[in-house]
Amino acid sequence: MTTFSVKFLGCKVSHTDAQAIRERLLADGHVEADDGDIAIVNTCCVTHEAVRKSRHASSRAARTPPRVYVTRCGANLAGNAFAALPANVKVIARRSEETADAIAGDAGATSCVNAESRLDRVRAFVKIQDGCSFSCNFCVVPLVRGASRSRRAADVVREIERRVAQGHREVVLTGINLGCYRDREAGFRLHDLIAAAARVDGLARLRLSSIEVNHVTDALVETLRATPVVSRHLHVPLQSGDDGVLRAMARRYTAASYLKRVGPLRDDFNLTTDVIVGFPTEDDRAFGNTLSVLREAGITGVHVFPYSPRPGTVTADADAVPPSVKKERSAILRAVSRDASMERWRRKVGSEDVVLVDRRGRGYDDDYSPGLVDAPAGEPGKVRARDVSEEGILAA
Ligand code: SF4
Repeated sequence: MTTFSVKFLGCKVSHTDAQAIRERLLADGHVEADDGDIAIVNTCCVTHEAVRKSRHASSRAARTPPRVYVTRCGANLAGNAFAALPANVKVIARRSEETADAIAGDAGATSCVNAESRLDRVRAFVKIQDGCSFSCNFCVVPLVRGASRSRRAADVVREIERRVAQGHREVVLTGINLGCYRDREAGFRLHDLIAAAARVDGLARLRLSSIEVNHVTDALVETLRATPVVSRHLHVPLQSGDDGVLRAMARRYTAASYLKRVGPLRDDFNLTTDVIVGFPTEDDRAFGNTLSVLREAGITGVHVFPYSPRPGTVTADADAVPPSVKKERSAILRAVSRDASMERWRRKVGSEDVVLVDRRGRGYDDDYSPGLVDAPAGEPGKVRARDVSEEGILAA
């Protein structure tokens, strides 16, 4: 028997990859422990800062356990960002589908097999798709995760059934570019999968991790609106609200087409987004255009990513905007985001909603607004919003 720990950095897809490794080692009879024989660090490389943090986490992990596996996006990055780590660190540069097997093969199986693992949260992330075939000029993800590919719909539904049986009440369908989801054999696109997933007994809420604006189709919106278990939250990356910057990024839409697809959803969906600040061609006017689109689209939450050039991408050698300007624009966006989310929360005061409590005292309501409630984790509860604070909606 080997003891192990798994840590991940980065996005929800990295979380599902870490989960797959963890479950595979548990199924092979190994035991999870903080200071185990093996440490696995699932790394991220989406920005320079993410690589720095991944390298730091890997070198910290290498202090005690005899074996450390450094895996996923950072490990697949051109230039071998983890080359200088101690000799007990092994870099596993494999596709996500192969990583758990590679580590499990190295660790070996025991005769004592744990059939199931109970995850510790009310929310489970279920990967339905990996990779991306879009090639945005700044993005390293297609280089480290490969082209888009999808899981079979039947396998996804089976995993959701298993998560619900484990006690999870909410499932987040997760992928790098969810709208590319296809199960050609079953004839399923994303909206078909959502409809099938929503029929799983005992599932209280179903959410999409994020969706590119080109994939916010009429068929998708119709399915989301017609399916009660689907959360009224959509995360639709904008990256910039300026057409010149969007062109330089090789994004596949304009500010106007983003607004055309997303604008009509602002009343019944809570809309959040990603924005890159300080892209090489972003001047003050372009940044102003981003602020206008955010306002017009009714976006209530912005994940801000200060631009950093990534190796192997089209813009790898370009970084014209000074760090101080990136910092200033980031602060402006974060303030806009905070004000917009509090404004949405205020509009809910007096109304009732179902909050799924994630950990004692805190959960999320139907549109993914945070609710502060006096209840233990696990059960959904109907609550009335009585006030707001900087952390969320205070519920009675
Ligand atoms: S859509 Fe663009 S930004 Fe998103 S993962 Fe694909 S290449 Fe990267």
